[in-house]
Amino acid sequence: MTKDLLGRHRAVLPDWLALYYEDPLEITHGEGRYVWDADGNRYLDFFGGILTTMTAHALPEVTKAVAEQAGRILHSSTLYLNRPMVELAERIAQVSGIPDARVFFTTSGTEANDTALLLATAHRRSNTVLAMRNSYHGRSFGSVGITGNRGWSPTSLSPLQTLYVHGGVRTRGPYAHLDDREFIAACVEDLTDLLGQTRPPAALIAEPIQGVGGFTSPPDGLYAAFREVLHERGILWISDEVQTGWGRTGEHFWGWQAHARSGPPDIVTFAKGIGNGMSVGGVIARAEIMNCLDANSISTFGGTQITMAAGLANLGHLLEHDLQGNARRVGGLLIERLRAVAAQVPHVREVRGRGLMIGIELTRPGTDRADPEAASAVLEEARSGGLLIGKGGGHSTSALRIAPPLTLTVAEAEEGAAILERALRSL
Ligand code: PMP
Repeated sequence: MTKDLLGRHRAVLPDWLALYYEDPLEITHGEGRYVWDADGNRYLDFFGGILTTMTAHALPEVTKAVAEQAGRILHSSTLYLNRPMVELAERIAQVSGIPDARVFFTTSGTEANDTALLLATAHRRSNTVLAMRNSYHGRSFGSVGITGNRGWSPTSLSPLQTLYVHGGVRTRGPYAHLDDREFIAACVEDLTDLLGQTRPPAALIAEPIQGVGGFTSPPDGLYAAFREVLHERGILWISDEVQTGWGRTGEHFWGWQAHARSGPPDIVTFAKGIGNGMSVGGVIARAEIMNCLDANSISTFGGTQITMAAGLANLGHLLEHDLQGNARRVGGLLIERLRAVAAQVPHVREVRGRGLMIGIELTRPGTDRADPEAASAVLEEARSGGLLIGKGGGHSTSALRIAPPLTLTVAEAEEGAAILERALRSL
């Protein structure tokens, strides 16, 4: 059945729509932290459909809210008052940490970042933007240009002038040998140099932890140091929280809070998990920034009732059950357990991350050279053992990515770690 579907997929969909696994999976249903494929095999899901399943598969509150809304009306115009959109915006504004917050909904992270660029460039009257090396912000015409990881960019054309800043990754390259303080000083110098060479930029966009880049974090203090340089010059800070938002990193509700010495960002973008699989993205900004656009609406489907109903039920569950706390506790145990395994597997260079956002960097034993083949081999082996994980990376796809639904239990963390341990040891 799946084989036949694969042939049809290849015949009609673009060649660049990459599928995981030599024998690609067709996932047909899910419950909690587990999913099943078309042949009835069960998998523990440590990737949540690229972090789109924020709380749990088939979370009853979300299923009910979606079914009830579908039974009433499927309607998508932003020209009328929309109760679930207002209610979700209110809840997000409350937890945003941004004063006088306004929220605008989109259907994806890409569109959220495009909107953030519209806001920042209009507010600052500049189409120059700073972005981090190895970053990922989407693949629309606007967001491709600000994606520092050029390997993920299908085109090099962009309507923006983008300058890429050091600071995302330092496992190799000229900064690899520096300690945190030296690294931060070098990156700030690089940023200051760039600012001296260009017209005043509108904004710097950054992920608090680089997601597609393999879950790499900048050292504590780097973004705070950047913010001071930018703040003095009126340059806006856009925090792309598409992967790091909603408590996933455990210690904080938003990724930016780990770097908050100089206050909240000017603009926050979000997407992925908030709809628990429904397409919800959005932008949060102070009213002064949000209202600078000369527009009426910029999306038909952003904020449609059914996706807002899903978001409300999902966010409600997350907050009522303190899933941020769960990410901190269970994620902490999982990181510790994986570090113990890693110490015995020569391919593992580093286990990193915060909460339930964990990256495992693989290199050829005894060298600094990234090992994407090992990452693919572990992905396959884990799948054979009944575990789904992801991969990513800065210079090459040599990191494993672990981001389970935030309701993960200790027993499930243990089960997944045991499968992953066998997969890593098989290298
Ligand atoms: N920003 C980040 C940090 C992301 O990881 C992604 C998706 N991987 C995007 C933006 C784009 O989101 P979407 O695929 O929903 O357009």
